[in-house]
Amino acid sequence: MSDAPRLEPLPEDWQTALFVVAHPDDIEYGAAAAVARWTGQGKRVVYCMVTSGEAGIDGLHPDECGPLREAEEIASARAVGVDEVEFLRLPDGILEYGVALRGSIAEVVRRHRPDVALTINFRETFGGTNLNQADHIAVGRALLDAVRDAGNRWVFPEQLTDGLEPWGGVRAVWAGGSPDATHAVDVTDTFDAGVASLKEHRAYIEGLGWEGWDPEEFLDGILRGGGQGLGVTHAATFEVFPLGWG
Ligand SMILES: [Zn+2]
Repeated sequence: MSDAPRLEPLPEDWQTALFVVAHPDDIEYGAAAAVARWTGQGKRVVYCMVTSGEAGIDGLHPDECGPLREAEEIASARAVGVDEVEFLRLPDGILEYGVALRGSIAEVVRRHRPDVALTINFRETFGGTNLNQADHIAVGRALLDAVRDAGNRWVFPEQLTDGLEPWGGVRAVWAGGSPDATHAVDVTDTFDAGVASLKEHRAYIEGLGWEGWDPEEFLDGILRGGGQGLGVTHAATFEVFPLGWG
């Protein structure tokens, strides 16, 4: 029925992952079900939100919206076994790729010392003509650089105080939901946790005003597509950016 390309399973021989995204809810459109699988295996996953998504609800002032969306993300993370959620509180909607953003993310990488770093799709589109959002692109590009910056003691050296050391241990960056995905994670058993995590974004979903939009049906559609590529019911897809020369 489908001509979906074959996808490879993502490696699971790691212990700590750092998931860096622009907005509360970015992880919940598919990748969170993979996070639930990993935390179920005893792995540590840390979330870092670069903004608080405070510009995301048209009818709500950012001063009210930011704290609300932070609370929703914390609940959402908990639904998939994540209890470490950080907010960098950079300005929503107008993130700029550059040295400042790289530095902010490198500092987080140095503190958590992850084996792998994740983000969501940062290609120009989500496939076809569905344009990606500027903050997603800025964060993904900055993360690719920041995981290497973090390992170089002469880059952002002012961060290396109070025992903070360089960290060059990130083996790869994985971007969820990329149109160029080559890998996937079987989330058949953690699909429900993924749905629960998306449903925690109540104010945001309500603010979108999509009449009759059903989070379960929506995620089912996304993850079934990935499942076809992996030969399972549901799978979350990822594009892989290996680091180093190996
Ligand atoms: Zn977003």
